[in-house]
Amino acid sequence: MMRKALVTGGAGFIGSHLSKRLVDDGFKVTIIDNLYTGSRRNIAELEEKGDVKFIKLDVSEAKAEEFAKENFDEIYNLACPASPVHYQATPLKTALTSFYGVLFSLELARLTGAKLMHASTSEIYGDPLLHPQEEHQWGNVNTIGIRSCYDEGKRFAETLVSDYIRVYDIDARMIRIFNTYGPKMHPQDGRVVSNFIVEALEGRDITIYGDGSQTRSFQFVSDLVEAIRKYMRLDRAKVKEFFCKNNLPAPVLNIGNPSEYTVKELAAKTLEKLPESPSRLVFESLPGDDPKKRRPDITLAKALLGWEPKITLDEGLDKTIEYFRAKSNNKISID
Ligand code: NAD
Ligand code: UDP
Repeated sequence: MMRKALVTGGAGFIGSHLSKRLVDDGFKVTIIDNLYTGSRRNIAELEEKGDVKFIKLDVSEAKAEEFAKENFDEIYNLACPASPVHYQATPLKTALTSFYGVLFSLELARLTGAKLMHASTSEIYGDPLLHPQEEHQWGNVNTIGIRSCYDEGKRFAETLVSDYIRVYDIDARMIRIFNTYGPKMHPQDGRVVSNFIVEALEGRDITIYGDGSQTRSFQFVSDLVEAIRKYMRLDRAKVKEFFCKNNLPAPVLNIGNPSEYTVKELAAKTLEKLPESPSRLVFESLPGDDPKKRRPDITLAKALLGWEPKITLDEGLDKTIEYFRAKSNNKISID
C-alpha cells in the first residue's frame, strides 16, 4: 500500500521541495498550510498530477483527532513563517504557530504511531557564544526582543518534542536548520539571498543591514531535503543509540552548510554573477538582536546520516538566480 505523509507548511519554500521529494519517494502527501507566506503555485504541479492533497488550514487550529483516521506514516512539521520580516509582522501568531503546530503534530504522532520530523532552527542558538555551533550548546537568546517570538517559540517546540518522547515514547526527530535558500523562495520573502538577487535583477540598491560583517552559512535546499529524508529513514533504535552515545537527551541534528560568508561577501558575489546590474550596495541599520555569526558544526549529521552538503554557494546562487530571472521574465507566473 502507498505510504502517506503529512507536511505542515508544505506550500512554503522548503515544504514544497520536501513534498515533491516525498512524492518522488512514493508517498501520497497531504499538505496543511494557511498560505501566510506560502503559495499554492509552489505545489501546483504536484496538485495537478493528484500527488498531493492541499488543505487550507491554520495549523494552530488543526485537531489531531480529526486527522488521526488518515493514518499517516510520517509527519513533517514545517508550518511557521521563517523570514524575520514576516515572523516579526505577526509576532503573537508566530509564537502560537510554533507552539500549537508542534503540539498538533505531536498529538497526531501519539494517537497514530506516525514518525514525526520537526523543523527547528539555528535560531535556538541565538547570538552564539561559541563558534561554530554544535548541538550541545544551549544558546544565547533574548526572551523579550523582536526575534524572540520565533526563537523562543522554536525553543519551546524542541522542549515539547523532547518531553513527548520521554513521556509517550513517540518516534520523533528534530533538525536545526541553518540558513537555507533556493528556487521557490517568495520574491518578497525578505531573507538575504532572495532579497539580494531580486534587488540586483530589478536594478535596485542592495540593502546590507549593518556593516555587513555579520556571517551566515548558506545551504542549498536540495541538500537539506536529502538530509531530512536520510534522517527520517533511519531505524529508530539506531537513532536512540546514537544520541545516547553522544550525550544528547533528544534526537536533534544540525543541518546546514558549514561554508561561512559575511553578508557583504554574499552581496559582492551576487553582483559578480549579475555584472549587467546597475545596483549599488547601500547600508541600512541592523535590526535588533541580529546574530553576529553563524556556522553549523555538522559532525553529528555526517556521522549519523553519512551526509554532507554537496552544492557550493556558487552553484546554488546560479540556480537561484536562474529561477528568479525566469520569474521576472514572466516565464514563471508571478504570485
Ligand atoms: P516559508 O515561510 O516559505 O514556509 C513556511 C510555510 O508555513 C508557509 O507555506 C506558510 O504559509 C506556512 N504557515 C505559516 N504559519 C502557518 C500556520 N499558522 N498554519 C499553517 N501554515 C502556516 O519558510 P521556509 O523557509 O520554507 O521554512 C519552513 C520551516 O523551516 C519553518 O518551520 C522554519 O522555521 C524552518 N526553518 C527554515 C530555515 C530557512 O533558512 N529556510 C531555517 C531554519 C528553520
Ligand atoms: N540581511 C541584509 N539585507 C537584507 C536581508 C537580510 O543585510 O536585505 C542580513 C540580516 O540582517 C542578517 C543576514 O542578512 O544579518 C541574514 O538575514 P536573513 O533574514 O536571511 O536570516 P537570519 O537573520 O534569520 O539568519
